[in-house]
Amino acid sequence: MREDIAPMPAFLTGGGQTGALMRSLDWSRSALGPPAHWPQSLSAVVGLMLNTSFPMFVAWGPQLSFLYNDAYVEVLGGKHPDAMGRPFHDIWSEIWDDIYPIIELAMAGQSTYHKNLPLAMLRKGFLEQTWFTFSYAPMRDEAGNVSGVYCACTETTEQVLAETHRLHELDRLRQLFYQAPGIIAVLRDANHVFEIANEAYLELIGERGDIIGKPAREVLPDVEGQVFFDLLDRVYASGEPFIGREIPIMLKRSSDGAVEQRYLNFVYQPTRDHLGQVSGIFVEGSDVTDAVLANRALRENEQRLRDLANTIPHMAWMADAGGQLHWYNDRWFDYTGSTPEQLEEGRWLDFIHPDDRALLVAERARGHASGEPYEVKARIRSAQGEYRTYFIRAAPLHDSTGTIVQWFGTDTDVTAIETAQSELRAANRRKDEFLAMLAHELRNPLAPISTAAELLKLTALDEHRVRQTSNIIGRQVAHMTKLVDDLLDVSRVTRGLVTLQEEPLVVGSLVADAVEQVHSLLEDKHHHFTIDAPGESLGIRGDRTRLIQVFSNLLNNAAKYTPANGRITLRLRAVEGQAEIRVEDNGIGIAAPLLPYIFDLFTQAERSPDRSQGGLGLGLALVKSLVELHGGAVWAESGGPGKGSRFTVRLPLVDASAADPAASARQGQAVPAGDGLQLMVVDDNRDAAQTLSMLLEAVGHRVAVSYDASEAIDEAQRCRPALLFLDIGLPDIDGYALARKLRAMPETAGAMLVAVTGYGQPDDKARALAAGFDRHLVKPVRMEEVLALVDEAAARP
Ligand code: ADP
Repeated sequence: MREDIAPMPAFLTGGGQTGALMRSLDWSRSALGPPAHWPQSLSAVVGLMLNTSFPMFVAWGPQLSFLYNDAYVEVLGGKHPDAMGRPFHDIWSEIWDDIYPIIELAMAGQSTYHKNLPLAMLRKGFLEQTWFTFSYAPMRDEAGNVSGVYCACTETTEQVLAETHRLHELDRLRQLFYQAPGIIAVLRDANHVFEIANEAYLELIGERGDIIGKPAREVLPDVEGQVFFDLLDRVYASGEPFIGREIPIMLKRSSDGAVEQRYLNFVYQPTRDHLGQVSGIFVEGSDVTDAVLANRALRENEQRLRDLANTIPHMAWMADAGGQLHWYNDRWFDYTGSTPEQLEEGRWLDFIHPDDRALLVAERARGHASGEPYEVKARIRSAQGEYRTYFIRAAPLHDSTGTIVQWFGTDTDVTAIETAQSELRAANRRKDEFLAMLAHELRNPLAPISTAAELLKLTALDEHRVRQTSNIIGRQVAHMTKLVDDLLDVSRVTRGLVTLQEEPLVVGSLVADAVEQVHSLLEDKHHHFTIDAPGESLGIRGDRTRLIQVFSNLLNNAAKYTPANGRITLRLRAVEGQAEIRVEDNGIGIAAPLLPYIFDLFTQAERSPDRSQGGLGLGLALVKSLVELHGGAVWAESGGPGKGSRFTVRLPLVDASAADPAASARQGQAVPAGDGLQLMVVDDNRDAAQTLSMLLEAVGHRVAVSYDASEAIDEAQRCRPALLFLDIGLPDIDGYALARKLRAMPETAGAMLVAVTGYGQPDDKARALAAGFDRHLVKPVRMEEVLALVDEAAARP
């Protein structure tokens, strides 16, 4: 209700909502009375206040009646608009205790200023912590007495809260800084004065008292002369940061003066002032001593492992956890001839045989996937390009937590073992084959023997049949005996149970005896046999019987393993102080894979129909053992299957004249004196004629050969032979007629005439003697007999 009808004073025309509120209020009941009656000083301040955007209020009169502007409405919260004109105490009872002393001061005439005064206000329905910055000033009435207060204020709650938060953060950061595990220090100025240093830093440098405010050189005199101060100077001067890794530092950390070595990772970072000038250095880093020592120990361990791995005879290597190879021992480089650079490029697989790579890679992947050791066999190439077989084993090395940190591998050369194993298998196979063959060979003669035994049971057999049957048994038994003898012989020779009956020998005569033994086989197969001997005789020392066995074995093989009508040559020569005896044929030859084993016991080529004449595979083993017993050597060569074979024996030469003629004679051997005798062979079988003549020539005689009677008569007149061997079945006239003609010729009347026939019946002999022959031989002739006859002829006047 407006009682005051006086017009609104001019000072109340302004203001926003608070101005409007003042104008509309009924002031008659208030202690202030109508605005028109307000004292000049009050209305002046209110007028000013209403036109200010800064929160302000005035409290006037005995009740300190409250007047405020628009900007102050926000401070009042829910207290507006009731607060307008009400007593101060009614409005702000909750902060009265805080405010009243200030009001009192103002009422006493004293202005005050308060910054961030905390006040717990109840203005939004709850008690709220606020902060205010404000000034109180006394207001006087016309009489000059203080009648009220005037306040300009600003709420600083948000700033205060933000500042508090900032300070908390700062505090937290400071805590972090001080307690950070890394070392931190802030240095100021060119002489590096400590401004801040955290606990880790203090801990690192040891007990040094309060270091803040002191230059680094003063705090750490023991570091002088090490790199640190120079680095600080340089960073300060250049403005360039420095990063150090695992830098050793010597520090006196304890009061006993002992110097201790630590290792540091650190950064010197220059700090700048507002002008951009370097003003100090921020030091941040960590003490990595433990890690450095642990690493060093690890490296030393690894080095020890490497040193150790270098002492072993195997190749060894190390790979990282991912399988990347990074170290090999010297054996690897020696063997492969590879360079560390090649291996750095990861080219180790190049040295593995291409066929073995896939398996190795797969096994390795399996090992890496499972973390289990792996093993694999692979061929590795040597510097010379040869592949040898290696047993590769790799195992993981773990750290204390069980994590794989390395792989350690070894490559062991198992070539010799592999070869030995395969040779063992081959030897075993040969033994089995031999047993099978032996059984076969021994059973073969049993069939005719048992048939013959059955035949003998028959009473109706005539004398001729009985003789024939017993001949069969005799032959088969001889054959079996030969097999068994060979077996026993081999076992005695290979076990070293044979002692040689050594004597000086002439190679030609040995060979002649050997040829004689295989003579019939050569003839049966119509081989073309030649002997190629030097003019002079070759002397050796040895066991006659054993050496004949050697050469007859070789000749026998040549005859056996050469298809009919083959060519077989026996060559004798002196070479490098050795007598060389070479048996060469153009037969079935020897396959390259078999060649290295040909002298092993039981070795034989595949049995095929054309090789059905193979024996037991003992002959060559015997040959080798015997030749070696004589201090000689034997080897075989062949161009391969169908290309013929060549066997060469070498025996140490001795002076041929040392050969003892008496001993030779005992063996039925004619050693020709001087140039030997002129002899003659007449036979229409050219091979037979030639082999016999070669035999005779081999022991040093001159031999003329004729293939029919008329040619023989001419030749005999020309060469005047001392002894003639005549075949009986000649194409033109027979041997008997020829003998009679020769006896009638002056050139041959006194010569010794020997008949060589296929028939040994007493009748035949008598007929020969009647025709003028001195002797009669039955084919196949035995060398002993021939040589004995030559001896006899030589002894004739
Ligand atoms: P055998 O003749 O009893 O089988 P050897 O020890 O004398 O036994 O010979 C072993 C093997 O060597 C023979 O089985 C044969 O395969 C081969 N051999 C020997 N000599 C010759 C040769 N002159 N030509 C071809 N192969 C041969």
